[in-house]
Amino acid sequence: MRSEFIHRLVSLAAELADSVPGGKTSSEELGPNARWYASSWQRAGGIDVFLARDGVERCLVVAGAGPEAARVPGEVVATGERPVKVAAYSSEACAALRALFPWTAPRALPKHRPSFGCGDRLGVATPGQLRGLRHTRAALVLAQQSVRELTLTGRSYAEVVDAATWGVFQEGYQEGFGADGDHLKTADEVRALLDAGATFITLDLSLCLGCASSLPEMPDAVRRLEGNSWELAGERLEANPDDLRGFWRVYGPTFAFIEEADVLCRQARGVGGYDLEVSVDETAHATRPLDHLLLATELARRGIAVTSIAPRFPGEFQKGIDYIGDRERLEREVAIHAEIAHRFGYKLGVHSGSDKFAVFPLFGRHGGDRLHVKTAGTSWLEALRVVAATDPALFRAIWTQATEGFPRAREYYHIGTSLADVTGKADVPDSELPHLLNDDACRQFLHITYGEILKAPAPGGGTLSDALQENLAQNEARYAHGLEAHFRRHADGLGLTSS
Ligand code: ZN
Repeated sequence: MRSEFIHRLVSLAAELADSVPGGKTSSEELGPNARWYASSWQRAGGIDVFLARDGVERCLVVAGAGPEAARVPGEVVATGERPVKVAAYSSEACAALRALFPWTAPRALPKHRPSFGCGDRLGVATPGQLRGLRHTRAALVLAQQSVRELTLTGRSYAEVVDAATWGVFQEGYQEGFGADGDHLKTADEVRALLDAGATFITLDLSLCLGCASSLPEMPDAVRRLEGNSWELAGERLEANPDDLRGFWRVYGPTFAFIEEADVLCRQARGVGGYDLEVSVDETAHATRPLDHLLLATELARRGIAVTSIAPRFPGEFQKGIDYIGDRERLEREVAIHAEIAHRFGYKLGVHSGSDKFAVFPLFGRHGGDRLHVKTAGTSWLEALRVVAATDPALFRAIWTQATEGFPRAREYYHIGTSLADVTGKADVPDSELPHLLNDDACRQFLHITYGEILKAPAPGGGTLSDALQENLAQNEARYAHGLEAHFRRHADGLGLTSS
């Protein structure tokens, strides 16, 4: 950080001492591409705490003395009656924020509100996401990352939580948020993510679904459901012997994993201190409503209280683009899945939920307050939209890298796009590059190749990841504004905006 910047921080700290957080303060500008965040300013135990940035370098500033100030790491840059300390962005600085301001630490979500999850692969999207969603009915999950994304971005889950803590503090968002360790397939992954701070554990059953070698005998309680029928959303579901056997063959091997994960969560977070989601959204076939009902029944019998279940819905929920499929069939099945969730008292989980504008209203209608929607890569695409508009050369370097890495990236994601669908599409004048972010094939192409992009070298030295961070720091307001508008559209479509 430049010494001129440090000087400005010291005089700002003196100025703030005569005012109160939220009161009138001077401009947030602290020089070229340097600023502080008035929304972050808090006063606690006689000290002032706020965030600032000098270029890409972000810092936490503490003015005043006392035990609270002593808990914050960093360098003393002004002494005297009201010393000023500056701590660069670090895991220690984030931990200090969580200790001083508990609302910057993740926690379990309120059970009777709809919820909305946002992924942030670059660690700088939280402020914009909050601006788009904080005035809705939804409880928010902000630190959400799958093991696949952690591997591809080279980040640790603790870093993901830190980024959310920082963003929440920057915006002064005190309503609380969840931290979702997404798509966890083994008990070891559950343990590791709980250790790293997750409060919301999403189980991906794909390793045990239908696993013949670990199929336990069908319990009597399941056998006794034979011949039962249920009336759900105007449809009649009936459990005949074949259906029961089919259900048990597929789901029977999953209960040991779910039960073990639930015990691990309870040990780590205590009763009521966590959220558990069961997801089967990445399976080959749509989840049969009867299977969902039997799964819910068996979980309830075992005393496992889930926050949500995410079925695989009919049609295609591909990443970053709108719904593909028969909307009438989808609505019929969503109505049944939602009623099952209502009856058992959990939420219907909707994965790959970004950009499904055509079907948001039907999810809102049937899910109501029992809905948990997840989005991830769409915030990354909004970042690329900023780059396309502000640095065409960097965007073209990203495009080239995506082209090269696409065959490898495809192994991780199910999408309908092939390389031929995007070839030549970037051969347009610079001014038209942002339009590529409105093209489904280009969106998917850029959505899944982030791992290949982030680790690649940049033409001007460093990595593309560094260049992206620099661009987004320079265009911070633009990125936040784009995210705000994008997530408002999501909330409006889902009916989360109305009270
Ligand atoms: Zn999923």
